[in-house]
Amino acid sequence: MKKMYFGSNLKMYKNIEDTIRYLKELASLTADISREEIELFIIPSYTTLDRAARSVDRSLVKLGAQNMCWEEQGQFTGEISPLMLQEIGLDLVMIGHSERRHVFRETDEEENKKVKCGLEHGFTTLLCIGETAEEKKYDLGPEVLRTQLKIGLEGVDVSHIGKIWVAYEPVWSIGVGGIPATADYAERMHGEIKKCLSELFGDAGKEIPVLYGGSVNPGNAEELIIQPSIDGLFVGRSAWQADRFNELIRMAKTKAEAEGR
Ligand code: PEP
Repeated sequence: MKKMYFGSNLKMYKNIEDTIRYLKELASLTADISREEIELFIIPSYTTLDRAARSVDRSLVKLGAQNMCWEEQGQFTGEISPLMLQEIGLDLVMIGHSERRHVFRETDEEENKKVKCGLEHGFTTLLCIGETAEEKKYDLGPEVLRTQLKIGLEGVDVSHIGKIWVAYEPVWSIGVGGIPATADYAERMHGEIKKCLSELFGDAGKEIPVLYGGSVNPGNAEELIIQPSIDGLFVGRSAWQADRFNELIRMAKTKAEAEGR
């Protein structure tokens, strides 16, 4: 069976105590699942990372940062340097989450500088992409995703491919009030993403995992995970209780096995 990826971004929720409790519970509940079969990662808030990295079994749960500056040091008030994240010993950095792009107005060019910096500093680098509702209305999803990939991954050396992950998160499907993408629509967009990654990196591009995110819940996780171009689920609200996330992961995994994914 192909490896499946499950992760969650905790956004600006959970204090240090709550995050540590959550991570330990999640690690323990899922400990019996082979990490050859699944990759499990959590992206908590910055203030929790140092303690989280010291308290959690990283062979079970990988830890990431929600954002990162493209410079190692300098006059960048409020930013976090890749060296600071290395010091904590993180596994991954997430770049270009929808809220970074749309609330904080980050551009594709900025995401590109961050992606290259993340890879150069040895982090698994999760690039998030997705079209808005307005763009979807005109069926511009494929063009928008292509643009975000081509700019976001511009200049990335093929030797770094093993450390790139992509999350497709349509803006209209994320968070409270979001409408989950249908499995058919998500599969179509994932197909476009995979095609573009192959154009950019040749056969190596086929190795890049592409995760779906946006209102994933126990009612749609099975249908999404069995799509041939969906390599994993990037879950928000339905993952923020460890027992619920554990159940969702098991449900998706059982379905994928039954379908011979
Ligand atoms: C997200 O914000 O990245 C996300 C996937 O959230 P949710 O699952 O809550 O829609």
